[in-house]
Amino acid sequence: HFTVFLIIISYSTCIVAKPRPWTNSLIPNHILSTEFASNLRDDPDAITKASNDYGNLIQDTPSAVLYPSSVHDIINLIKFSNNCSTPFSVSARGRGHSIRGQATARDGVVVEMSGLSKNGIGIRVSWSPSLGYYADVGGEQLWIDVLRATMEHDLAPVSWTDYLYLSVGGTLSNGGISGQSFLHGPQISNVLELDVITGKGEFMTCSKHMNSELFFGVLGGLGQFGVITRARIILHKAPTKEIELLMKDLEFIPGFIFKKDVPIIDFLSRVKTGDNQKEAHPWLNLFVPKSRINDFNAGVFVDIIGNHNQTKGPILFYPFNRKKWDDRMSAVTPDEDIFYTLGLLHSSGPDESEDFDKLNNKITEFCEKAGIEIKQYLPYYKSKEDWMKHFGSKWNIFEERKMKFDPRMILSPGQRIFTSDL
Ligand code: FAD
Repeated sequence: HFTVFLIIISYSTCIVAKPRPWTNSLIPNHILSTEFASNLRDDPDAITKASNDYGNLIQDTPSAVLYPSSVHDIINLIKFSNNCSTPFSVSARGRGHSIRGQATARDGVVVEMSGLSKNGIGIRVSWSPSLGYYADVGGEQLWIDVLRATMEHDLAPVSWTDYLYLSVGGTLSNGGISGQSFLHGPQISNVLELDVITGKGEFMTCSKHMNSELFFGVLGGLGQFGVITRARIILHKAPTKEIELLMKDLEFIPGFIFKKDVPIIDFLSRVKTGDNQKEAHPWLNLFVPKSRINDFNAGVFVDIIGNHNQTKGPILFYPFNRKKWDDRMSAVTPDEDIFYTLGLLHSSGPDESEDFDKLNNKITEFCEKAGIEIKQYLPYYKSKEDWMKHFGSKWNIFEERKMKFDPRMILSPGQRIFTSDL
């Protein structure tokens, strides 16, 4: 009995303990008298987790981490920051699967979105005559859980990421791409409606027809305009296996068919990854325009990668159809109907990551010199000039939307778009 008693005491101390006053922090101490104070943590476990990400390349330490028990906690936190003479930054963190600190908030507050999974909206499947099947999904939900819940109704989203342990809010802030994107568009093209808490702390529902500026801004918006707390996602009947039908019109030598029949749930969740916290992941993801693919092949695949004898980790390469992307969204692509993605998913020891950064730089510099107008997916830039170049003709509208929805530059500073001092 005595042992059990001790365990209960230490567990409750760890979770419920009120944060200490933050003497070195930008955040005024009266945050401790707010309604959400009991959901703030500044213990080493919470801070260490929120300072790092999957890339293991950049550390940025927040003053506290909010584990929201409801959407109101996030609204109140952002409003509180807005009311400070010097606002502190706030960053939503989905699963922290960014590569270079994009979900961090130095000296600010990281919102650990998984906190919402307890009392949030979860995953609700519905049907209406005008919309067909759809799911209302909390921004904190992982795609693997969306798959499991919708498959109970023999339904599934049409567009995926290759790896499903990513959050809905996190991938919609980037694009959400995989092999299905050519046919169905990226995940951001398969969303009907969003609930968003803006950088002013306003809760807004938006769609193509309602508050459309916010809707298009947030999709691929790198967390700059608001925190997504709900997404309405298009569902279709989950595909059944139709291999025989697909192969009917193909010519092939019979002995060369290699076929493995797996349930759709196993197929979509086929990509797994370890959680080796000592490994760094200096990834590079590019979109390459089709018109220059031969030059890209000669310069990048044959010359640079071919002669680099230590590329470790998978290389992904597949095409997209730009017609499936809506140009009003913040996401950026090359200006051509067909483009390809190259994903160099390097893994390295912490000391080797510079070698991979050099390799990545060689590739982007080659493209620059050869005039190949690539775009980075999951972009990482340090200067405003580079961001302006990245967004190209979309920069002005991106900046206008920032002024409209997050004028005090509170949200997602780890993207380093409006906070170049980081
Ligand atoms: P985080 O890293 O936590 O956040 C990313 C950004 O979004 C941050 O700026 C954060 O502040 C913001 N953000 C997070 N949640 C919200 C929210 N609710 N509202 C507003 N802003 C928010 N991408 C693909 O497209 N296809 C893939 O197949 C794919 N596979 C991957 C496999 C692995 C192993 C890894 C590590 C990444 C992969 N990615 C892929 C990249 C992935 O889409 C990004 O890392 C993305 O950021 C999602 O990760 P996350 O949910 O952990 O978001």
